[in-house]
Amino acid sequence: MSEFLHQISVDTLRGVGPQLATKLKKLGLYNLQDLLFHLPLRYIDRTQITPIGGIQPMTEVVIEGEVRASDVVFGRRRSLVCRMQDHSGVISLRFFHFNRAQQERLKPGTRLRCFGEVRRGKSGLELYHPEYQYLDTPNPAQLEETLTPIYPATEGITQTRIRDLCGQALAQLSQSTIAELLPAELSWGDNSPFSVSLVEALRLLHNPPPGTALHLLAEGQHPAQQRLAAEELVAHNLSLLKLRQKVQQQQAPVLLEDKTAKHKFLAQLAFDLTAAQQRVGDEISADISTGIPMLRLVQGDVGSGKTVVAAMAAVQAIANGKQAALMAPTEILADQHRINFEQWLRPLGIRVAFLTGKVKGKAREMQLQAIADGSAQMVVGTHALFQDSVEFSDLGLSIIDEQHRFGVHQRLALRNKGFAAKGPTLNQLPAPHQLIMTATPIPRTLAMSAYADLDCSVIDELPPGRTPVETLVLSNLRRNDIIERLRVACASGRQAYWVCTLIEESDVLEAQAAEATASELQLMLPDLNIGLIHGRLKPREKLEMMEAFKCGEINLLVATTVIEVGVDVPNASLMIIDNAERLGLSQLHQLRGRVGRGSQSSHCLLLYSMPISANGSARLKIMHETNDGFKIAEKDLELRGPGEVLGTRQTGDMQLHIADLQRDAHLLPQIKTTAEALLLNHQSNVDPLIMRWLGHSEQYAQA
Ligand code: ADP
Ligand code: MG
Repeated sequence: MSEFLHQISVDTLRGVGPQLATKLKKLGLYNLQDLLFHLPLRYIDRTQITPIGGIQPMTEVVIEGEVRASDVVFGRRRSLVCRMQDHSGVISLRFFHFNRAQQERLKPGTRLRCFGEVRRGKSGLELYHPEYQYLDTPNPAQLEETLTPIYPATEGITQTRIRDLCGQALAQLSQSTIAELLPAELSWGDNSPFSVSLVEALRLLHNPPPGTALHLLAEGQHPAQQRLAAEELVAHNLSLLKLRQKVQQQQAPVLLEDKTAKHKFLAQLAFDLTAAQQRVGDEISADISTGIPMLRLVQGDVGSGKTVVAAMAAVQAIANGKQAALMAPTEILADQHRINFEQWLRPLGIRVAFLTGKVKGKAREMQLQAIADGSAQMVVGTHALFQDSVEFSDLGLSIIDEQHRFGVHQRLALRNKGFAAKGPTLNQLPAPHQLIMTATPIPRTLAMSAYADLDCSVIDELPPGRTPVETLVLSNLRRNDIIERLRVACASGRQAYWVCTLIEESDVLEAQAAEATASELQLMLPDLNIGLIHGRLKPREKLEMMEAFKCGEINLLVATTVIEVGVDVPNASLMIIDNAERLGLSQLHQLRGRVGRGSQSSHCLLLYSMPISANGSARLKIMHETNDGFKIAEKDLELRGPGEVLGTRQTGDMQLHIADLQRDAHLLPQIKTTAEALLLNHQSNVDPLIMRWLGHSEQYAQA
């Protein structure tokens, strides 16, 4: 019986001593299977000889011919130039580093085979430093029979060496030495990426036969690559599903709906819930009334009213004698939530604790005490809530707002707070329910893979009476008109934001830019009360400034992008964004969401300055055309790719080797069904698949 390749150490290969083995292990290459999943980045074609007369610049070619002249040329740098000829033409080989022996051996009459990249040089087309072999020897080397793979560059290991090692591993590759972990009955018909077997795919990718479509390989569209990409995505999906399964095997508190508390809560709101808010509220209520931990993502466009839905869930938890925690990504937003929650929950006799990095000293101790002894049933804060010093008395529900700002790890960390109590094992302790909210809509397919561990609810309706924001794109040359327009708007009682942007992310420079803009505007608009807010202000100063704006003391608030997330001032109905072309779509959408929150019609003016890139103007055009966050998210994905859309944290966590969420988006729906089927009917394949693709990263080890 042969062993499986993942059981055979790289040490067993010819030429691998302890030193090389250490280097390989540093690269995560422990066994032969690891080596075979270490795939080439690209390929070069050394299978055919190109006639010299037919070669094109910027291509890599093999040529054969005879040296006709060989001279040392003195220019800016000394070089050896050989003219080489075949039946069809002449070309120069240029060497900057050469020795006497080489120079003598490359004398006229010598027949060579060369490989290199063709460039335009002083003497027409040239090959710089080609690799070459002599043909006039008794046993000239044969042409390659397969395309030559180029592996990811690795320190201290040459291409030749890694090719040799992969070759040795390939020689041991067969259906019986590598486990096919995707059972045939799961394949999806003719166009299934799984119609290529794993063995076939690996052989082809390490050793593509002549005639393999190099352009497909370059684009990652070759069936062999798609086969592996699909398997990798399945493995990732499984890791998230397993995480979910693990969580759901834990017990969570049963938080039953309390009609009295709910009605009391709703009765004192100044508005009725929208149908979408009610529906999502009911989904959450149903989730937390079972003993299985909830893992739910609520997506809702900016201004759709997610906070009140979260508060309703908190009320249900608290009515059942548990604590609820709400975590926000910024101090400003946390403080705004505190104000709302105090207003909504105090009438119900609920005490709200507040904890951020800026709550210090005695105040902090008091908050910590109230959280630990349970006298505060509701806790609002920033990521300060993660800290070890924070102990909850009995956390039943954790809510994370604007989740795109946090990564998977932080999500897990807050959940683990529910385990803070001492106890024998995690599984015997109740886990808190978890609610996650985001205003950055995630295209459906992406959400399915990046958040496979979560259920999803969408608040797809805005509260009534909002007029959509009208967005105009204007050249910076019209600044004076715009400032006049601003004056008129503020004179009629409207409030406005002026947002300053910078290319670099620098608190200091941003603050300076905002200060300069504020004084410029104050000079031109002497009658207005102009406020200024930026990241360099103390948290207390920021909050005071927001308060002054909220109560109408300030007409115009000049701001950096610190106001981006969640800030709610319904009377503000005009926003001007300077150099809007610098910002990404989702950031623009978030910013614009600060206006259009009241009943008067709102405007957003996007100022750009020339020169503007094609991509930049495409973004501004989309902003002008739509207010729909989901459409904008889809466009954002097209323009920037999933890494940017999900945030580096999210995709960084995924660490895909071969799959590409955007390129392979068409696979995602089938990936999901395949992963679910495996989990249901082929349990024993699940861990090996996760090991194969995510084995050496640790984040999934612990749920
Ligand atoms: P987001 O979903 O962006 O977090 P918020 O929860 O901040 O939105 O709500 C935006 C504003 O809409 C708040 O002022 C909130 O009080 C208000 N609001 C929420 N739900 C409704 C509703 N059903 N009717 C009217 N106003 C509402
Ligand atoms: Mg919000």
